[in-house]
Amino acid sequence: MSNSISIIGCGIIGATIAYELSCSDLYQIDVYDRQQPAQAATGAALGVLMGIISQKVKGRAWNLRRDSIRRYQTLIPELEKMTGLKIPYNSQGIVKLLSAEDDLEKWTQLVTTRTEQEWHLELWNARKIATQLPQLNPRFTGTAVYSPQDLQIDPVALTNALVVAAKMNGVNFHFDRSIESIGANNPDSCDLLTSDLPVITSDRVIVTAGLGATSLLSPHAPIEIQPVLGQAIQIRLPRQLGNPDFQPVIVKDDVNIVPCGGNDYWVGATVEFPVDGVMVADAAGIEQIERVAISACPDLARGEIVRTWQGLRPRPNHRPAPVIDRVGNNGRILVATGHYRNGILLAPATARIVGDMLLTN
Ligand SMILES: Cc1cc2nc3c(=O)[nH]c(=O)nc-3n(C[C@H](O)[C@H](O)[C@H](O)COP(=O)(O)OP(=O)(O)OC[C@H]3O[C@@H](n4cnc5c(N)ncnc54)[C@H](O)[C@@H]3O)c2cc1C
Repeated sequence: MSNSISIIGCGIIGATIAYELSCSDLYQIDVYDRQQPAQAATGAALGVLMGIISQKVKGRAWNLRRDSIRRYQTLIPELEKMTGLKIPYNSQGIVKLLSAEDDLEKWTQLVTTRTEQEWHLELWNARKIATQLPQLNPRFTGTAVYSPQDLQIDPVALTNALVVAAKMNGVNFHFDRSIESIGANNPDSCDLLTSDLPVITSDRVIVTAGLGATSLLSPHAPIEIQPVLGQAIQIRLPRQLGNPDFQPVIVKDDVNIVPCGGNDYWVGATVEFPVDGVMVADAAGIEQIERVAISACPDLARGEIVRTWQGLRPRPNHRPAPVIDRVGNNGRILVATGHYRNGILLAPATARIVGDMLLTN
């Protein structure tokens, strides 16, 4: 069995794959990243895991979500126990406020389907919403969907814990180390080329390089990963919104209001595509997400914006997200990237698929 593996990229996807593979004794694993871990898309993410509440009900898109939410139930305590690190997460679920444009019939059907699938979703009427979430605008008199089994997790803390745990299991990490290209001419191995090190040879390579994947893979497969910008803000309030004992993520018009400790809330994120190939953060985008959040929870207007940030989501062009595949002539390059808006959510299931692919050669 070929057993040395190089992973290129240590965002959430590379770190999760490294950790999950390190739990078996089968592989000798090295991870390379041109920066420190969780600096690219992962460092900008809000960590909202919309699994059960997603409208996907079958096929690959649902299986990835279901398997990830299942694995998160064990992964978080497992990592905390192993590393002694605290991974901030919110298990009070997600409340999505439906708008007039939402098809209530479709959501009612989803609640039924999830029950049949042995998951749990609830539809809340205006009275229930007002009781549970007094911070909401009293003018909101619509319906909400509550998903108690979906989570929110701090993506940077999670990635760092995965790195620590993988190191404890024997994985070697090489940060601030850029990989320039991958050679796959030899049928039995792959070569990683850097600007200053001797060639690194391993039996398999797993490309988890996000936006860096396109150029690394171009000699082997035309996998185009496009950046889609997301901006977000952190608002600090004089006191917590609503009931301190019930602080779920609230979603309105695709904008997440995420309790993130103390009296702070993350609000985001914008979804901005490049215009004529140029990616520029639009100030109006921030105003728009702030406006939507305040229209949902008017008390947010009393807060102060203490942080504004942005990140680039890796989105595959002309194919569904994510790309989890085998590429190249010798079949020794695997790719797991292009998770677009759901990389934190889909990391555990992605790692499982990659693990299965390695076992089936
Ligand atoms: C504002 C924002 C909010 C988001 N919110 C959520 C959310 O709530 N829930 C959710 O599930 N997802 C969310 N996402 C999406 C999520 O962040 C991404 O899908 C996920 O982080 C992708 O992870 P990754 O590991 O594939 O990529 P990245 O985190 O981008 O990591 C790729 C790594 O590869 C390294 N690399 C690239 N090229 C090379 C090279 N040649 N050599 C060495 N290293 C290389 C980079 O340095 C980087 O560390 C959000 C994204 C943004 C921007």
